[in-house]
Amino acid sequence: MNVQMAKVAGFCMGVRRAMEMALKAAREAAPPVYTYGPLIHNPSALFVLKAKGVEVLDGIPPVGRGTVIVRAHGIPPEDKAGLVQAGYEIVDATCPRVIKVQMLARHFARKGATVILFGDRGHPEVMGIMGHAGDKGVLVSDEADLEELLSLGQMEDYVILAQTTQDRERFERWSGCITARFPGGRVFNTICDSTHKRQGEVRRLASRMDAVVVVGGKESANTRRLAEIVEECGKTAIPVETEEDIDREFISRFKEVGVTAGASTPNWVINRVVQDLQAIAGVHEPGWYRVLRRFVRFLHQANLITAMAGGCLAWVGISLLKSMDPDVVSSPASAVVEALCYIYAMHTLNRLIDWEAGEFNDPLRAKYMAGHRRWFVLASVAAMGASLALAWQAGLPSFLMLVLLSAFGVLYTIPMLPGLRSSKSLKELPGSKTLFVALAWSAVCVIIPAGVWPTDLGASQWILFFLVGGLVYIRTALLEVFDLQGDKIVGKETLAVLIGEKKAVRLVKVLAVALAASSLVLGASGLMTPHCMLLAIPACYMVWLSRRALQSRIGQDMHLEPLVESSFFLLFLAQEILLVVTQGA
Ligand code: SF4
Repeated sequence: MNVQMAKVAGFCMGVRRAMEMALKAAREAAPPVYTYGPLIHNPSALFVLKAKGVEVLDGIPPVGRGTVIVRAHGIPPEDKAGLVQAGYEIVDATCPRVIKVQMLARHFARKGATVILFGDRGHPEVMGIMGHAGDKGVLVSDEADLEELLSLGQMEDYVILAQTTQDRERFERWSGCITARFPGGRVFNTICDSTHKRQGEVRRLASRMDAVVVVGGKESANTRRLAEIVEECGKTAIPVETEEDIDREFISRFKEVGVTAGASTPNWVINRVVQDLQAIAGVHEPGWYRVLRRFVRFLHQANLITAMAGGCLAWVGISLLKSMDPDVVSSPASAVVEALCYIYAMHTLNRLIDWEAGEFNDPLRAKYMAGHRRWFVLASVAAMGASLALAWQAGLPSFLMLVLLSAFGVLYTIPMLPGLRSSKSLKELPGSKTLFVALAWSAVCVIIPAGVWPTDLGASQWILFFLVGGLVYIRTALLEVFDLQGDKIVGKETLAVLIGEKKAVRLVKVLAVALAASSLVLGASGLMTPHCMLLAIPACYMVWLSRRALQSRIGQDMHLEPLVESSFFLLFLAQEILLVVTQGA
């Protein structure tokens, strides 16, 4: 079964901003923290907020204390004034695009114009905008309202606005009827672009697929509209709130299944649904394909793809070291196994410790690891032991450096730095993970295999260390972009969380281009071995992947991590092909 994700799905800008403000308020604002009504129409997101101590305030008591978050839909001005009067601190998470509609309604109502709003009766956003229009507001939510309005004798000074999630075609039709009946009015198309793009995208997706799974809360109007559009395209719409609603037997009949999600659906819910769908064997799939898919899934969930990628990078690092100095690295194969085991042990242990973020970022792997926790601990300890034993065989410098690196890996997670409320670990230093992972990988792929003390390494070996470290830095930064939403929820300050998704992707691109250019110049100029030009291959590949990250904008499936790790498989392959070609010549 082929599962394809819509390019625009999940949190829109306004909802993402509101969720981030709510999570920040849960950490930093004066407690207790409330949202005024449900923050968004999604039970999973509300469950996470509740777990963070954010409760829902349904009415305005005469006296209150703490913080109230105004949701993305906004609220009427009198409600906001009531909350302030009751004594609450306000965190206003109203979407800037909704604020614009509120301001238009307020501005024209004050000038005495009638404010006609197309919107769903009872929807919080509509109630908020109507509150700003005051007694000048007229709501048109269906054909009956429109007929009533058109039956009025006269209307001269008026404006037409729309709830941000309205259907554009209907807006144009209805506003056309009104302006034809009452000339002179002004029409402001305030429908959000994000809604329009999402609906256009689902139309395109439905035209290519046999069925489309629509992920979102049952109460969410924009999610319901997406399902309607799929049906209008003549395809089967399968609405689900979470992965638990998936009817596996029913879905397995379809060959091509699309996935889209409403604006209030969090990434981690989409992740779970997509991963679950990908795990369903379609009835049309050949047996060998199912086995292959299961095997790749096992490699991914058991962290073996990451370890193998580390092994490939170590193989290339060691080969480059040897091409600079053939006497260095007495046993390349055991140095590669040593690096692979170290990387496996560290990543597995870290993922076991960081299980909370894993539950949001890669729920199927987190579940698999939790179910086999004891085996993973044993495998990590055995891998670490094997790595140390191989380093011992390679000599004292390698062994001591690996011991130091392993000790650092343990200290990295222990709280020992003074913090605001409690002590912090090195891991909690903002953006530190990307750097430390790069340094550790580069050390086991270049420095430790050299088998000499760092002071005995030459300039070209140090340059190689920084080039390899740069590649790992780019790879880790890219993976952090895919894990952005989950990391934010658990309060991890990764590079992507720190500087934001777009800036992180731009940084990845710039670094990857710089690294590709440096390795080409260094290799071509003779300052380094010509083989070092190979490092440009994974760097260019990661430029392409970063473009994909911006297009898909979402950690959607289990393919993204293997895709990033495959940059090192590519590097390994390129080096082996080059070796065969040069030996043949
Ligand atoms: Fe804001 Fe548009 Fe999202 Fe509504 S759909 S919250 S207007 S970004």
